[in-house]
Amino acid sequence: MKPIAVLSLIICFVIFPSILYLRTRGPVNPDKLQQQQQDMSRFDSGNLSSKFRVPSGKSRGPVIMPALNNSTLKAELGRSTWKLLHTIMARFPEKPTENEKEALRSYVYLFSRLYPCGECATEFQKILEKYPPQVSSREAASQWMCAIHNIVNKRLKKEQFDCGQIADKYKCGCDDEKNSTTTSLNFP
Ligand SMILES: Cc1cc2nc3c(=O)[nH]c(=O)nc-3n(C[C@H](O)[C@H](O)[C@H](O)COP(=O)(O)OP(=O)(O)OC[C@H]3O[C@@H](n4cnc5c(N)ncnc54)[C@H](O)[C@@H]3O)c2cc1C
Repeated sequence: MKPIAVLSLIICFVIFPSILYLRTRGPVNPDKLQQQQQDMSRFDSGNLSSKFRVPSGKSRGPVIMPALNNSTLKAELGRSTWKLLHTIMARFPEKPTENEKEALRSYVYLFSRLYPCGECATEFQKILEKYPPQVSSREAASQWMCAIHNIVNKRLKKEQFDCGQIADKYKCGCDDEKNSTTTSLNFP
């Protein structure tokens, strides 16, 4: 084969397609790449509906609020918050779906970042490292929350609560479950 023919073949089948490919691909845009990676991370944990899931790992992180030095505010906030937390656990489904378990887990970790008393949140995060949220059932979640509250009570030199009484203290209001008219959609 003549050299000119070989050169033409190389231009046609190697150099020309390479130029075309590089032009359509364009230079790598770091912002676009980061956005794509963030989008992908929304889909990377299990087969839950991505629409209703906190992106993987996004609920974890350092405490956001500063110390709360006003002890009256701190105590009022604490009482209201414990009421809310124990009531959430009392009304958590007896047999939660994977989506519901993940929702509670994420809630607890986000709470641990955003609780308005920064030093309380820091201590709470230390407790979570040792005793991660128990989300397998209403009973497991309620008992876990009660035990966590008792750990805080102990550090603050307060009385221990009998966790066997937890269902009597925080009513689930479960009568309305039978006639529930919830409009939320069912997810796995
Ligand atoms: C996550 C978190 C971390 C906190 N960390 C700190 C901190 O580091 N430093 C600080 O000064 N304050 C902290 N607080 C506030 C503190 O725990 C109290 O809320 C506050 O001191 C008021 O105490 P209290 O005696 O009124 O009862 P609380 O502890 O607020 O309890 C309210 C009521 O809950 C019931 N109860 C008690 N123990 C349990 C239990 N184990 N399970 C179920 N019910 C129970 C009792 O009836 C009690 O009266 C924290 C609060 C929260 C929510």
